[in-house]
Amino acid sequence: MNKKVSGLAMATAVCMATVMSGCEAPSLDFLSGKKEQVSQPASSGDNTGAQTPAEEPATGAPQGQDQGSNAPHKPTMEETIRTVDGIPTVTNPEELYVIVNKQRALPSDYVPSDLTEPNVPFPFKDKVEKRLLREPAARALEALFSQAKQDGIELYAVSGYRSYKTQKSLYETYVRTQGEAHAAAFSAVPGKSEHQTGLAMDVSGLDQATRLEQTFADTPEGMWLAEKCAAFGFIIRYPKGKEDITGYAYEPWHLRYVGKEMAEEIMSRGITLEEYFQESRSS
Ligand SMILES: [Zn+2]
Repeated sequence: MNKKVSGLAMATAVCMATVMSGCEAPSLDFLSGKKEQVSQPASSGDNTGAQTPAEEPATGAPQGQDQGSNAPHKPTMEETIRTVDGIPTVTNPEELYVIVNKQRALPSDYVPSDLTEPNVPFPFKDKVEKRLLREPAARALEALFSQAKQDGIELYAVSGYRSYKTQKSLYETYVRTQGEAHAAAFSAVPGKSEHQTGLAMDVSGLDQATRLEQTFADTPEGMWLAEKCAAFGFIIRYPKGKEDITGYAYEPWHLRYVGKEMAEEIMSRGITLEEYFQESRSS
């Protein structure tokens, strides 16, 4: 009997799943029954409200503090950011371990030089940029998908590279149709989407109902992915329970390539990319 309520609950659930998503918003349709429920889990970790300028550029960056023996080079987060036109911007966009989040944008003109299309199944036919990944990530994704197939798991690559221009256009569409506040809540600001790195891919199974939904985590494909991705150099970038650190809701479908060694440490310890690099500050 509670059709109305459950419909509303569902709309809210859809919103919550999509809120703060760094991933491609499925469409704008779900916004038509817009809710003001946008604040909760993820935005609490969003410290950008005050537009605090980042730390000074690390021009006399301390040397010799590097104690990390488990990674080739492990700069602190402060060492890899500077303010450009008032925006805290990463200085190492081309690194495979670059951290892009709500406090750390990519340069607006950054385009990876080694974008390529991985030979994996996509759930669409169009030849569009979201098929692309950077070379090392593309090769790793092929290996991951190949192993999945051997294990009887069918995966699809839903959305990879997204250019600054595309993100900007998407964001502006939100602003135009929903207003500035709504846009800020529902869509990544251009430059701050990890998809612009060319190192992130949203993955799904065949089932449309769990595509880019948190319920994907409970599917055989989602469980397989969480268990196996690290061995191929990928992490689940926005884990459950880490919303205040990543600034994003749980996204069991969003894979981020960081390389095998780092991925295995991050996933086995259940930490985030941010935590991995924050640790080197205190060491
Ligand atoms: Zn994503």
